[in-house]
Amino acid sequence: MAPSLVLTGARVVLPSGVVDDGRVSVEGTKIVAAAAESAETIDLTGHWLVPGFVDIHNHGGGGASFSGSAEDVLKAVRTHRAHGTTTLVASTVTDEMDLLVRQAGLLSELTEQGEIAGVHFEGPFISPCRKGAHSEKLLRHPDPAEVRKLIDAARGKAKMVTLAAELPGGVDSVRLLAEHGVIAAIGHTDATYEQTVEAIDAGATVATHLFNAMPPLGHRSPGPITALLEDERVTVELINDGTHLHPAALELAFHHAGADRVAFITDAMDAAGIGDGRYMLGPLEVEVSEGVARLVQGGSIAGSTLTQDRAFKRAVTIDRLSVQDAVTALSVNPARLLGLSDRIGSLEPGKDADLVVLDAHFDLKGVMRHGVWVITPQLA
Ligand SMILES: [Zn+2]
Repeated sequence: MAPSLVLTGARVVLPSGVVDDGRVSVEGTKIVAAAAESAETIDLTGHWLVPGFVDIHNHGGGGASFSGSAEDVLKAVRTHRAHGTTTLVASTVTDEMDLLVRQAGLLSELTEQGEIAGVHFEGPFISPCRKGAHSEKLLRHPDPAEVRKLIDAARGKAKMVTLAAELPGGVDSVRLLAEHGVIAAIGHTDATYEQTVEAIDAGATVATHLFNAMPPLGHRSPGPITALLEDERVTVELINDGTHLHPAALELAFHHAGADRVAFITDAMDAAGIGDGRYMLGPLEVEVSEGVARLVQGGSIAGSTLTQDRAFKRAVTIDRLSVQDAVTALSVNPARLLGLSDRIGSLEPGKDADLVVLDAHFDLKGVMRHGVWVITPQLA
């Protein structure tokens, strides 16, 4: 029988604002205006109730990656779900084209099964000058025919491709992606301000982890950061883990773009949800020490070990964002980017019953996905 639940007493974050002593009713997999009279009531007094988090850039967790087997993918998905991420796009890293094509097929199947929300290809169409933790010898120019090959391999489930639009074929590839309803994300780029403006005009709408893996902002060479921040058509990804960005840089981006144009991503790799040790990121070896992932060769930062519950807590306790703005950056905006706002991203009747219970200190206490507890709140 479909579960029928009423969650009462919590401070509920809705699009219209925070409702104290709010009430969210769940029937089956959906949030409803009112549950059946026989519904079980759960008192969440002293807690926050926020929409499930949505991550559009994530490479893995729980010791497994989205470049691995179906079993690996599910392991990583479950790890992030237990940290409040109820919707997740699986990101690949630069690899041989035929391996990426094969992985696209696997990830497209898992999308059809509802485990993930699609595929993000990060690389191989990126700049060797800003390769970060991507294998230089496997990088290639964004030839539209090759870009096409990758998105075709994902059989309609490709959601985003990160590319360096200043490379030969870059702007044409952006156009191709936009025409196919795939987000063109500017990242791992050495583009100038002008080249970035051209890419945005061609249809690019996301900045892949703004500030990271792109030239810094200079007063005579404002670079991609300025172009991406100033254009209202662009949503900027930020990795809010305290390592990738100085808090002042995050504040600058948030202030300039406004809450409606920021998506907090994890860019997580295998170690997320586990801890320090040796891991692989695609074909490259990574050492994680004190929660910071770096390439063994060269020491580049190699993704994060962030989970979105920690990004939320950081946002409201350290970055001093409002709870509403944190929800906007972790749920509302990424849901909109994925074209899923009719189903997820807010706690309104008709939406999927995807929600996160946080205590007064913003520590995660419960996660529900499609009306089923992933983490059941243990209330005193
Ligand atoms: Zn990444």
